[in-house]
Amino acid sequence: MLRLIFFLIQLALVVAAALWLTANTQDMSLVVMGTRITMNAGLAALMLLIVVWILFQVFRLVKAFVDLPANQRKQREENKHRRGLDAISKGLSALAAGDAKEASKQSKVAQKYLAKSPLTHLISAQTALLEGDSDKADQNFIAMLEDQQAAFMGLRGLITQAMKRGDRAETVALLYEALKLRPKTFWVVDTLFRLEAAQGHWNETLAIIEQGRSNRVLDKKQAQRFIAVVQAQNAREQLIAGNEKAARTAAQRAVQLAPDFAPGQLVLADLLRQSDGPEAAAKALQRAWKQQPHPLYTFAYLQALGAEGPRAILDAVTALHDLRSDHALSKLELGRSQLAAGELEAARGSLTPLENRAPSHRLFRALASLAEAEGGSLEAINALQAKASLYPRDDAWSCSACQDEHQAWHAVCPTCESFDTLVWGSDLADRENRPALEQRLAGSVALLEAGG
Ligand SMILES: [Zn+2]
Repeated sequence: MLRLIFFLIQLALVVAAALWLTANTQDMSLVVMGTRITMNAGLAALMLLIVVWILFQVFRLVKAFVDLPANQRKQREENKHRRGLDAISKGLSALAAGDAKEASKQSKVAQKYLAKSPLTHLISAQTALLEGDSDKADQNFIAMLEDQQAAFMGLRGLITQAMKRGDRAETVALLYEALKLRPKTFWVVDTLFRLEAAQGHWNETLAIIEQGRSNRVLDKKQAQRFIAVVQAQNAREQLIAGNEKAARTAAQRAVQLAPDFAPGQLVLADLLRQSDGPEAAAKALQRAWKQQPHPLYTFAYLQALGAEGPRAILDAVTALHDLRSDHALSKLELGRSQLAAGELEAARGSLTPLENRAPSHRLFRALASLAEAEGGSLEAINALQAKASLYPRDDAWSCSACQDEHQAWHAVCPTCESFDTLVWGSDLADRENRPALEQRLAGSVALLEAGG
């Protein structure tokens, strides 16, 4: 319609111009092949215009004819693209509904119209997973790696698959690829450093945690704790291997980052006892006790001092107690050694207030022994022993993920391979729910699958 109006305006302008020219110009004549032609100059101009216009229209027609296949092709491409996208959205909705048959149908349509699109690969992979065809899923995830935008999604799919197969080596290799692409992704950092730790690759574990901290993927305090855990384990292993210098560096770093982390303090004390003598070890343990008392420090302290016999032990424990006389554990250790030294009245004074303040397995066992030493009734002694059994035993390390007990501390639980899950018995009440590595991996798989 608009074009017609435009054309009519053009025509009107041409006619108007011709009429004006006819009225305002004179005749002109020219000789063509011996014949003299006389005509109005305006009319001649009009004829010229018409000829030019016809030539222009012919040119347009020819051009449209020449362009026809290209235009048709473009139109066809657009149609294919539209149909492909349509199939992908239908397929995604079928996947969400868990309809494998429809998803498969739509994925084939998408393949037909949008074979090279990463979205097609994604939907084909997810459909294959729904149908239980892992190989086909992997092929599609691998194809996604070629597309810069979709590579991470492809990696995520492959990681999920490797985790499901339980292929640790492949999972780790793929996670490193993912870390390169997206170093700020929490699940990549978290899963990767735990897998490296489970294999005892401490340098790699540290590097990933450090990177996670500088990229702010890991909280600063959390990262410090993780590093202290790794360094404490590293120091233990270096000490056993006879690499004293490396052990010392690692232990000092652990203590510096987490002064209240007992395994770090204990390995440093062990090291000092071997290299610098018992005095240095005792001093380190006094500093540790001042920072935060721990039942294992008492044992290590007595060992460092070579304290033997109830009297020597009481003297040593009293020195520790005086460093943190406010702490319930100071009172418990003091009461126990007073009892062993036969100072019953003093023991009663140290232990009784703890019944309300810090009840524990060890406290009630000490109170039962005290009642026995005081010549208390069998009934009273039994009641205290029964009370002791109400509290979890607090004389070993146990894993908060698999609940297994361990005589020695390890950064990674020897049973379930979880990182930093070993807690001293008395800390049981503070336990958070820390899943075992396998559960954690299964959790990551579920999370990744839920996210598509
Ligand atoms: Zn465990």
